[in-house]
Amino acid sequence: MKAIVLERPGEFTVMDPPPMGKPKPGEATVLVKTIGICGTDLRAFGGNQPFFQYPRVLGHELGVEILEIGANEKGLVAGDQCAVEPYLSCGHCNACKRGKTNCCKNLRLLGVHIDGGMLGVLNVPISKLHKSEGLSLDQLALVETLSVGAHAVRRAALQPGETVLIIGVGPIGLAILQSVRQNADRVIVMDISMKRLEFCCNTMKVKDCIDARSNPLPKLRELLHGDLPTAIFDCTGSKESMEACFCYVEHAAKLVFVGLFNGDLTFNDPNFHQREMTVLSSRNATGEDFQQIMEGMRSGQIDIKSWVTHRVSSASIIDALPEWASGDNDVIKAIVEW
Ligand SMILES: [Zn+2]
Ligand SMILES: [Zn+2]
Repeated sequence: MKAIVLERPGEFTVMDPPPMGKPKPGEATVLVKTIGICGTDLRAFGGNQPFFQYPRVLGHELGVEILEIGANEKGLVAGDQCAVEPYLSCGHCNACKRGKTNCCKNLRLLGVHIDGGMLGVLNVPISKLHKSEGLSLDQLALVETLSVGAHAVRRAALQPGETVLIIGVGPIGLAILQSVRQNADRVIVMDISMKRLEFCCNTMKVKDCIDARSNPLPKLRELLHGDLPTAIFDCTGSKESMEACFCYVEHAAKLVFVGLFNGDLTFNDPNFHQREMTVLSSRNATGEDFQQIMEGMRSGQIDIKSWVTHRVSSASIIDALPEWASGDNDVIKAIVEW
């Protein structure tokens, strides 16, 4: 079994995995079985993920099997399959103490700040393992993406009767769509990619799909009979889109920035005040979000089979990932079988 290292933008190397060593107290040794690939991995490969340091072993969306574990209060034993919460939180900062492990002040993200799933074998905190209980290895690898969506929706605290707009329907936007559908009366999606809008329309059965390139404000008003969305989730990470959002929000409504723009945003204060707008950021997810998504998958309420458009073995990822990173393709979610 080999490990794959992203040495620098655009260059992978294969190496023998370093000896993992015994798990520390509170840790388990896990064997990686499936890895989901997302925008973070593709941007890291392309050299345009902010603050990313090389060399780095990628892989933060993981389905794993426990190889070695001591006695633990979760009752996990060797052989159990699990999803991994890749947000390694410190446990003692002010955010952690208040249960906000997703935005720990000392957060280290597996596969981003420290070496991740493409090592093949990892030592991870037992507290970050969530037992499968009937989910497939594909589902386990997708729990993280879906949890990020669930967390954003939890942040918005939707009330009955809301009208939701999701801008940018890549995997995170789709994850929000999954979680929102259980709460909102109506969901509209918007994107600049026709392929993504087609996927929403044809596969996700979204009735209202708007092309963001052609002056969407009048279109929104038309769809909502003069009103505007009461909750907006922007998953674009685009300055232009995020600033435009301030004009799409209904009075007394919410705007949640899920995508991150690496710079300053500006907005018009009277426009913001008139609406008494609530603006929120959403980052990562918590263990609670993981549990919620895994329950939804078990009950069949969350079905993500159609999302897995690409599948490769660990031996082929070196050839496949550059192609996915090159841009125009049909990848919704790619799974690596390790
Ligand atoms: Zn990801
Ligand atoms: Zn912390």
